[in-house]
Amino acid sequence: MQLLEQAILERGRVKDGEVLKVDAFLNHQMDVGLINELGREFHRRFADAGVTKILTIEASGIGIACITAQYFGVPVVFAKKTQSRNIDGEVLTTQVTSFTHQRNYDVIVSKRFLDPSDRVLLIDDFLAKGSALLGLISLVQQSGASIAGAGICIEKGFDVGGQAVRSQGIRVESLATIASMDANGIVFAPDHT
Ligand code: 5GP
Repeated sequence: MQLLEQAILERGRVKDGEVLKVDAFLNHQMDVGLINELGREFHRRFADAGVTKILTIEASGIGIACITAQYFGVPVVFAKKTQSRNIDGEVLTTQVTSFTHQRNYDVIVSKRFLDPSDRVLLIDDFLAKGSALLGLISLVQQSGASIAGAGICIEKGFDVGGQAVRSQGIRVESLATIASMDANGIVFAPDHT
């Protein structure tokens, strides 16, 4: 998506060769006008997928998911990060490895908010190694709901996550896919949509 690629080039920064900082417009300061266009594009791509709920992970995904949800007219549920595994039986839980903080944490979703009749669209800001998205997939699978697909703002196409998720037969739509990046610049993979 050209609008997002342009924002990444103009307002993003590559840190230490492997982290793309997009805090000027996506996950700290938020450019709501731009994110609104991302939400519109996710809806265009998944309009016929029968989405009944959007699932994301705190914190960066929440704003993007909420704006996207307005196009679908469905609720947003976000997986909460927690220090300790809650075993009271009322929650679905899985473990995620944080790409940016390099540590493991449990994420939970209340069983009340994912029903077997739901068709869930997963939304997140980045797809890198796939841990966050695979965690969300696990939560949906535990609930018995079905997965409509995953909408990702920025996929690191050179990392393993995209293949790990697509090999499960899950449709992943990334609005910008980075083929390579370093201190000298960012190269995008072709957009096939
Ligand atoms: P994964 O679990 O796929 O390895 O990484 C996805 C998660 O890590 C996203 O939820 C995102 O918050 C964070 N992440 C991964 N790569 C980057 C990056 O280059 N920049 C930023 N800002 N976050 C990233």
